Amino acid sequence: MKNKIILTLLLTATILSSCSNSNNELVTPDANDVQAEAPVDVSNENTNNNQANTESQQNLDVDPIESIDMSLEPNEIGEIMIVMYHGIGDKESDWQRTPENFRKDLEYMYQNGYRMISLNDYAKGIITTQAGYTPIILTFDDGRQNNFDITEKNGEYIINPDCAIGILEEFKEKYPDFDVTASFFLNSSPFGQQEYIDYKLKWLVDNGYDIGNHTYTHDEIANLNGEEIQSEIGSINNILHQYIPDYAVETLALPHGSNPKDEYAKYVLDGSYEEKSYKNIAVLDVGWRPAYSPFDTCTDFSSLYRVTGSEMNVQNCGIYDYFKQFEENKREKFVSDGNPNVVTIPKKYEEYIDMDIVGDRILNIFE
Ligand SMILES: [Zn+2]
Repeated sequence: MKNKIILTLLLTATILSSCSNSNNELVTPDANDVQAEAPVDVSNENTNNNQANTESQQNLDVDPIESIDMSLEPNEIGEIMIVMYHGIGDKESDWQRTPENFRKDLEYMYQNGYRMISLNDYAKGIITTQAGYTPIILTFDDGRQNNFDITEKNGEYIINPDCAIGILEEFKEKYPDFDVTASFFLNSSPFGQQEYIDYKLKWLVDNGYDIGNHTYTHDEIANLNGEEIQSEIGSINNILHQYIPDYAVETLALPHGSNPKDEYAKYVLDGSYEEKSYKNIAVLDVGWRPAYSPFDTCTDFSSLYRVTGSEMNVQNCGIYDYFKQFEENKREKFVSDGNPNVVTIPKKYEEYIDMDIVGDRILNIFE
């Protein structure tokens, strides 16, 4: 317990009215409202222990908080960009990036301290990003053929080097510490090329990518009733299950960013179709700003913000606008402390910490 900080008060009213990002006004909790036990220096604790102390025992005694390098300025309640891409193709448009521009985006991310994490890990609060780096999440909607395009030569499957997967694999090889991954949100005809569906879906799962649901018909969910929503989501999960039975599809991107009517909102998270149930841990909107940290009470996992991976018609809210705002400290980005079991957060934001997501992880609050 000594390294944990116990929050004794939930400041619900302020949580509802403002969030921890730098664009909102913050209310610092009264010091008396929060009982905190400061991290204890254990470096001398074992001095009197007898020499039978094994090395493994000593490792157990290493204080995870002490081992955090605070000079890297970790801030695990800062924002994380969930980048929304659609097509990768020859002509740049609102919903398509050229291979050249997609490579430019990836190069920028890598050179400026971003490292990829999966949406599924984000939703579970699993942040394995190296200390001092900022997680970023890549998503692709609509399952276009130019996301994952294959040609067959002498019985061998060759990935088009200019499709999304081709370029991601290129960067995986170029920068092994980029942690390359992405989520692909699919409709009823994943990646075109009917004959390769089975190969592609299995390949994605085997190579560290994630597969999400983008509904069967891509209709606006706002126009659907509960039964129709379950059919739209459940049918896709059931189709995907036939190809990748051991993979849990548990993320959804809302077509057109259309949200359900309030009375049917629960069906984007849970439901069933043809007697098979589904459960989503992360549901994505279309735009238009970075997502909150998974540890932030402001995060609504049933309606997560995304940033569009485009420079066209983005009205100051495209991917480079937010990179710039992070660089100019106009918004606070998430900076990893390097230890997935420790959540490091500045004291001024402690009232926003979502203890349900923090779970058994150790909180490291600093002034
Ligand atoms: Zn779509």
